[in-house]
Amino acid sequence: TTQIRLAHRPVGEPTDACFETTTEELPALAEGQVLLATRYLSLDPYMRGRMSAAKSYAEPVPVGGVMVGATVCEVLESRSDRRAVGDLVLAYTGWQTHAVADARHMRSLDPDAAPVSTALGVLGMPGFTAYAGLLEIGRPQPGETVVVAAAMGPVGSAVGQIARIKGARAVGIAGGPDKVRALTEEFGFDAAIDHRSATFGEELKAATPEGVDVYFENVGGPVGDAVTARLNTYARVPVCGLVAGYNATSAPEGPDRLPAYLGRVLTQSLTVRGFIQDEFVPTHTEAFQRDMTGWVADGSVRYREDVVDGLENAPEAFRGLLAGRNVGKLVIRVS
Ligand code: NDP
Repeated sequence: TTQIRLAHRPVGEPTDACFETTTEELPALAEGQVLLATRYLSLDPYMRGRMSAAKSYAEPVPVGGVMVGATVCEVLESRSDRRAVGDLVLAYTGWQTHAVADARHMRSLDPDAAPVSTALGVLGMPGFTAYAGLLEIGRPQPGETVVVAAAMGPVGSAVGQIARIKGARAVGIAGGPDKVRALTEEFGFDAAIDHRSATFGEELKAATPEGVDVYFENVGGPVGDAVTARLNTYARVPVCGLVAGYNATSAPEGPDRLPAYLGRVLTQSLTVRGFIQDEFVPTHTEAFQRDMTGWVADGSVRYREDVVDGLENAPEAFRGLLAGRNVGKLVIRVS
């Protein structure tokens, strides 16, 4: 198997020197194990956190360890009666071409039901994050305004489209004119704005004439500040991610903005609630699978994938993910 390992912990943007490619023989299968060939590897923003030593909700990847990640794999050999050769599965084997894994630690995929790569995106963890975070914490009501940034990504695009299904107005924020156009033309957002525009603040105001009732926080940074200023009384803020700061090496410049922020939380009766999607797996998986599969099938939720060929291109694609160069769910086609 060929693997990409964490060679050094990054300072700022992960450079090529942070990654190391190795090749090793896999052990013979023990009873209950399968040999997997990776078809698709998911690249997700949370992996930047795993590269750092800082304590988080999950253990960091050790230096020298294989980079972690969800994968769609094909079973090449099996010593388990749970899996047959040729089965396609959702596994968590990381940045490598092949792996030996316990046959219990994977989920079967039906290639006739949906393209298997969607198990990493709209029908997988990111889609689930959008569904559970928006409906459980955001609770959009008909006629309300929902704002989401990183809106072309798998989480944001699902947030906006689910908000519309629930009768709310969806406003998407993304980087660059092509993404902004796709949000309204392809994904049905009511309005979309470019966070790199010199007049972003005015455009946000124009797109949210009645203020913001739900801000699904994916990015933080200046975008988060601008949307916070538009929040209505009783607005809900599911805090899902803060990708604008994942490569940061120092605190943002300027005065401490926390007191003013908490002042708003108080005087406007805001609900600001962070979450890691795992929390909702026991309670929301069944409804998610039923609703999302239906919405994707009937076209009310669309999705885009950004497929990059070759495991060797994963480090560069990952840098692009944190900088907004991906358009849609980023996956590596490994074989
Ligand atoms: P995306 O595919 O949307 O990729 C991240 C995007 O963030 C980039 O494409 C870029 O898009 C945008 N971005 C990067 N820097 C900035 C910035 N400074 N300001 C504004 N936008 C920026 O990723 P996902 O859909 O997979 O994830 C979206 C968010 O959800 C992330 O924060 C992620 O960590 C979080 N997440 C949280 C989970 C949880 O359980 N809490 C689970 C899964 C994801 P653009 O071109 O628009 O700038």
